[in-house]
Amino acid sequence: MKTRVSDILKSMQIDPAQFSDGNLKVHSPIDGSEIGCVQMDDRASVDTKITNAQSAFLKWRAVPAPRRGELVRLLGEELREHKDALGALVTAECGKILEEGKGEVQEMVDICEFAVGISRQLHGLTIASERPGHHMREYWQPLGPVGIISAFNFPVAVWAWNTALALACGNPCIWKPSEKTPMTALACQALMERAIANFRAKFGDDAPDGLSSVIIGMRDVGEQMVDDPRIALVSATGSTRMGREVGPRVAARFGKCLLELGGNNAIIVAPSADLDMAIPGIVFGAVGTAGQRCTSTRRLIVHSSVYASLVPRLKKAYEGIRIGDPLVDGTLVGPVIDETSFDGMEKALDAARSEGGVVTGGSRVLADQYPDAYYAQPAIVELPGQSASMCEETFAPILYIVKYDTLDDAITLQNGVPQGLSSSIFTTDVREAEQFISAGGSDCGIANVNIGTSGAEIGGAFGGEKETGGGRESGSDAWRAYMRRQTSTVNYSRELPLAQGIKFDLD
Ligand code: NAD
Repeated sequence: MKTRVSDILKSMQIDPAQFSDGNLKVHSPIDGSEIGCVQMDDRASVDTKITNAQSAFLKWRAVPAPRRGELVRLLGEELREHKDALGALVTAECGKILEEGKGEVQEMVDICEFAVGISRQLHGLTIASERPGHHMREYWQPLGPVGIISAFNFPVAVWAWNTALALACGNPCIWKPSEKTPMTALACQALMERAIANFRAKFGDDAPDGLSSVIIGMRDVGEQMVDDPRIALVSATGSTRMGREVGPRVAARFGKCLLELGGNNAIIVAPSADLDMAIPGIVFGAVGTAGQRCTSTRRLIVHSSVYASLVPRLKKAYEGIRIGDPLVDGTLVGPVIDETSFDGMEKALDAARSEGGVVTGGSRVLADQYPDAYYAQPAIVELPGQSASMCEETFAPILYIVKYDTLDDAITLQNGVPQGLSSSIFTTDVREAEQFISAGGSDCGIANVNIGTSGAEIGGAFGGEKETGGGRESGSDAWRAYMRRQTSTVNYSRELPLAQGIKFDLD
């Protein structure tokens, strides 16, 4: 695997030697082998990177936004050129299949294009003033250095969602990737540095040093960034456990926080559902990325009248899933990230059994071929009702199934978990579909009809409610999170009337 990774890096004109000397060993989940080692940051180097980002901010915020967008466009060009290689590196380091690795890079290209457009649309408002001869306006100003914390399962796209918008909005970025996927992060930084060099060729030193940096390490380097008041916004993607720690720490210093945390996403299959559409939608949602997407389908809420026709077909589809090396064409499910993750899956299945669940699948496979890697047969668990284990996010390919009788009950089940990221209903009944996306329907940040829970496009705002953290990033007006709102009232009259008609007459 190491040679393969070296070849991938070389094809991106990145010297593999820079991944051969350091105190953090990187293993591929594909076969468990070591594919590199990188140097971790210490307190002093993190501090220097934050200082550099702070000085870069003072310069970058004054560069006209459309010109800032040009840097993002150049980053998009680098990503487009190296899509296949970076996608393969994602696969080697986090284990998702190559199609999904390349899809992740495509998402980066897409958000760059989106952010270039946004760089010419950082619109404010004009507001009617109650005072004569006054103008009131709302402006959006650059915020300051943005600290990005990302999870292993989307090792590059989450950075791009944040960085493309943050740069267009006038903010430098410091990225703390998952300690499980540092190589993809350093490869992205290399592409960013090339984009900056190309930008400088056109615009001189408009792009200051410190505009983009990566800090490598465990959670302690993340904590240092979280606690530093120079980081204006901490955008943290990962588990709810992490968010519970990060959120209050940032709040304690009155910093801004954007949290993208765990999900526990359900699909409702209604009596009128088109099962030929529902089945591939469910299978992709539940087993894609080996069940390691925040938007993975974890719960299936099936109307009693279709249960008998749906569940056997689903089990048959599961039998045909090709599990194996995610770099090989045709593989649908790669490994889970590591042994801890597989142990978590086994524990969750044991818990479900003790709650009366009937488990199909779930065992370790390919252990002879890959003794140091963890490939799991995706599991289906049929349960008599929504149990305690169904309310937790186990980051593995487990699909729990329960029955329902009325749509109100199904929506209550769907909403009856602590997380609120993604949800969907398969129905051909327009009343049911509209009820599901009404105020009394799904309580999630994402509510889909006749598509699954995962695989969002970048054009919409992405994120969820409750324990998912409430953050929104990517499309729509998510850019506002990276800016500070400023209300400005200008008096162009010769009088000084006070608001609310208050009289304050000086003698
Ligand atoms: P994790 O929480 O273990 O780690 C995520 C990142 O947070 C890592 O970089 C880690 O080093 C860092 N971190 C952990 N504790 C920290 C602390 N106290 N201070 C600062 N940094 C800290 O998550 P993971 O196992 O890498 O990823 C899986 C989880 O991420 C799942 O729960 C999944 O649902 C979630 N996720 C959410 C989204 C989303 O957009 N909502 C996207 C991807 C993944």
